[in-house]
Amino acid sequence: MLKLDFHPTGRHFLQIPGPSPVPDRILRAMSLPTIDHRGPEFAVLGKKVLGDLKKIFKTQQPVVIYPASGTGAWEAALANVLSPGDHVLMYESGQFATLWQKMASKLQLETEFVAKPGVDAQTGLPLSWRHGVDASLIEARLVADKAHRIKAVCVVHNETSTGVTSDIAAVRRAIDAAKHPALLMVDTISGLASADYRHDEWGVDVTISGSQKGLMLPPGISFNALSVRAIDASKTSTMPKAFWAWDEMLEFNKTGYFPYTPSTNLLYGLAEACDMILEQGLDVVFARHQRWAAGVRAAVNAWGLPIQCADPNVYSPVLTGVVTPQGVDADQVRKTIYERFDCSLGTGLGKIKGRMFRIGHLGDCNDLTLIAALAACEMGLKLSGVKLADSGVQAAMDYFKDHAFITT
Ligand SMILES: *Cc1c(COP(=O)(O)O)cnc(C)c1O
Repeated sequence: MLKLDFHPTGRHFLQIPGPSPVPDRILRAMSLPTIDHRGPEFAVLGKKVLGDLKKIFKTQQPVVIYPASGTGAWEAALANVLSPGDHVLMYESGQFATLWQKMASKLQLETEFVAKPGVDAQTGLPLSWRHGVDASLIEARLVADKAHRIKAVCVVHNETSTGVTSDIAAVRRAIDAAKHPALLMVDTISGLASADYRHDEWGVDVTISGSQKGLMLPPGISFNALSVRAIDASKTSTMPKAFWAWDEMLEFNKTGYFPYTPSTNLLYGLAEACDMILEQGLDVVFARHQRWAAGVRAAVNAWGLPIQCADPNVYSPVLTGVVTPQGVDADQVRKTIYERFDCSLGTGLGKIKGRMFRIGHLGDCNDLTLIAALAACEMGLKLSGVKLADSGVQAAMDYFKDHAFITT
C-alpha cells in the first residue's frame, strides 16, 4: 500500500488554539541576525516593544517580558506579589485555571478553588467548564472573608480549554462591592490581542499573557502587566524569587535593556506583531476574531453538535469547543482529521478529555483557511460515524458570504 508522507504538500493546518499560525511577515522579521543585547541598537528595540505592549494591554503601567512560556509568567505573577501561606481565591473555569491552582499550591499558597456546582443535563459535563466566571460566587466568598485573609483573586479571562471568555470587569466589580483589598490577577494568555482586554480600566493588578496565541508569535516569551498596587505588594512579598523578580527587570527596562539575555529574535517578531496589530487597530482585530468565531459556530450549529460554551454571552472569539456525541471519542476524531487531512485540532483537556475537540480561530487565519479547517472537521466527523444534521461548511460559507468584514 502506498504510504503518504507525514506532511503531504502545502501548509499544515495548525488549527489548535495556540500556538497559532505565525504570519510570514513575523517569521521574516525574526530571521534578522541576532544583535548585542547590551549594544545601542538593542535599546531601541527594547523600548519599542515595551511601549507597544502597554497599548495592547491597555495600561499606563509597566509590562514585563520573560523568556519563558506562559506557565513561567503565571509563576512570576504569584511569586512577585504573594508570600508562602497566603490565601488565594481561584475560580475553576477549566483546565488552565486548574493548572494555575495546582501551581499555586506547589508554591505553598493556600488555594481555595471555587466553581459553579453541578453537571450539565444535556452533555453530562461540569457546568463550571461550560460557563464563564460567576462573579457573584467570588463576591460572596470575599464578603465572608471579614479578616481579609484572601490576598488575591485569580481568574482566567479566555479559558482555552473550553472556549469561554469571562467578564473581568464583573470580577472587579465583585471585589469592589465586597470592599475587599485582594489583588486581582488575570490570565489572558490566549485572550490578549484577540479578545477585548483592558488592564487599567478593569482594575487588574497583574495580567499574565504569552506570545503564541493572539500575538501570533512562536512560543517562547510571556508577560506580566502590573499595577501600582501590584508593584507595592512586590516590595513586601517574601516568596523566594530571582529570575522572576520584577525589581531588577523594571530597573533595566527603563533604558530598554534586560537583566539577562532576552529572546532577541522573538522580540523582533514581537515588534512586527505589535506593528501589525496596532496598524490594524485593536477594535478591528477583535471584530475580526468575533466574526470568525461566529462563522465557526454557524458550522457547529449546522452539524447539530453542542458548543462547549453553553452561554452565548461568553462565547470565545479565539476558539470554539465542539462536544462529540456520547460514545464518540473526540480524540479519535482528531486523530482521523490529522492523519487524513493534515489538520491539527485542540484536544479535550482534563475533565472533558475525549468528550470534545477545539477549533482555534486565531493567528494567521482567514475565511478560506477556516472553511478548509471546517471541511477537515466535517469529513473527519463523518468518517467517525457521527451523524451530522447539516453541512457546517455550507453554513460557514453562508455566514462569511453574508457578513462582509467592513473596517472603515
Ligand atoms: C496556553 C495557555 C497557558 C499555558 O501557557 P504555556 O505557554 O503553555 O506555558 C495558560 N493559560 C492559558 C489560558 C493558556 O491558553
